[in-house]
Amino acid sequence: MMTLEHPLDDESRAFLATVEEFNRTEVAPYADQWDHDEQLPREIFTKAGKLGIMGMVAPKEYGGRGLSYVTSALAVKELGKTCASLAMDIAAHNALSVGQINLFGTEEQKQKYIPRLVSGEWIGAWGLTEPNAGSDTGGIETKGEQHGDHWHINGMKHFITSGRVADLIIVIATTGRTEAGKNEISAFIMMKDQLEAVRKIHTYGMRASETSELRFTNSKAEILGERGRGREQALTVLDRGRISIAALAVGIAEAAFDRANSYANERKQFGHAIGNFQAIQWMLVDSAMELEASEVMTLHAAHLQDQGKNTTKESAMAKLFASESAVKICDRSMQIHGGYGYSRDLPIERYLRDAKLCTIGEGTSEVQRLVIARHVLKEAKPLKLAHRESKEPNVDPMRPAGGNAQKQPAVGAS
Ligand SMILES: Cc1cc2nc3c(=O)[nH]c(=O)nc-3n(C[C@H](O)[C@H](O)[C@H](O)COP(=O)(O)OP(=O)(O)OC[C@H]3O[C@@H](n4cnc5c(N)ncnc54)[C@H](O)[C@@H]3O)c2cc1C
Repeated sequence: MMTLEHPLDDESRAFLATVEEFNRTEVAPYADQWDHDEQLPREIFTKAGKLGIMGMVAPKEYGGRGLSYVTSALAVKELGKTCASLAMDIAAHNALSVGQINLFGTEEQKQKYIPRLVSGEWIGAWGLTEPNAGSDTGGIETKGEQHGDHWHINGMKHFITSGRVADLIIVIATTGRTEAGKNEISAFIMMKDQLEAVRKIHTYGMRASETSELRFTNSKAEILGERGRGREQALTVLDRGRISIAALAVGIAEAAFDRANSYANERKQFGHAIGNFQAIQWMLVDSAMELEASEVMTLHAAHLQDQGKNTTKESAMAKLFASESAVKICDRSMQIHGGYGYSRDLPIERYLRDAKLCTIGEGTSEVQRLVIARHVLKEAKPLKLAHRESKEPNVDPMRPAGGNAQKQPAVGAS
């Protein structure tokens, strides 16, 4: 049963007010420039760290804020409204890098790595995707080989958020073959001095983020969690990560919608505000509905995470719906803005470019549909075939009641 109530405690409310202030003063004035420069200043992560934004859900004992997933989703949404590149980097850092160490690291690893990540001193990256293995994570080719108490990693990772600027990266690699003849997959923690940052990959949107290609050559790493459990670990953190991508999509969409709504009220053509034209109203209505549904689904998934429930289906649904809606909402916003929306004088075109990433990163829309389909089909209830044996009178509303109704033969009745 879905609940729409997400009461926030005083600590969460105070934190979100801090994020709003940070966003307004430290991010909003520079977001267009960062997009143009295709770069984020390092200090913005340090500042975010000081405010607890780099360790939102991480436990307080390791320096984190120990906040709920609902609060963290609302914070990512807030950041997504102004600079989606920064919001994406922060979302991946929190949910994937810090998240995986917190969920699967030894006590020693948590104490060693999490405090420096959550303080903003370090930026974390997360490497699963490779040139030949994207959606098909079982096909990764990066290899881990054990050498005494440490491991050597060899291979490539592709499209890694913050890869070039990260201080620490979680690397997913194969460590042998399973009995079933499949890749055995394990997770590792690697420091930046062990990897070669091959290049920044220039992208359509999220330009300020350092989407990177990385190479590992006998790169030293330590294993994270149990050997052979890397795929399960990755899927577990992706359940959380997908909620933050959904929140990011909601943030971008809200920014695009708010601008379109104001513009519709203010822009005059043919002697009227364009918001008086039904064509514009319908676009606004569709966007308003999709935005609200996206936020509800995102917070619902986050709320279930807070209750310790498995959210594989809900996370995938929220990400799929929110990201595809965000693209439509940004596109409509551009349409409502006419030529001004298409120009680089306004951030609408940036919103549209950034929103598109949300349908690809942390699993494409097609992969989300596969994940959801698996769950939906499993939840199917057995057909009762009640109509075959039913002795009840015909209740088809299209059929006239009483004596005029033609009796149907009972299928299969002897
Ligand atoms: C800006 C950016 C940041 C990213 N950050 C990270 C990161 O930090 N860490 C990381 O590990 N990865 C990251 N990624 C990678 C991202 O997760 C992958 O791009 C994504 O999972 C898709 O993989 P792919 O690009 O190899 O596409 P492919 O898997 O090759 O897919 C190509 C097309 O085929 C479709 N397809 C594939 N398999 C199926 C199927 N079974 N059924 C139906 N359709 C299918 C896909 O949906 C897609 O449309 C990032 C990507 C981008 C663009």
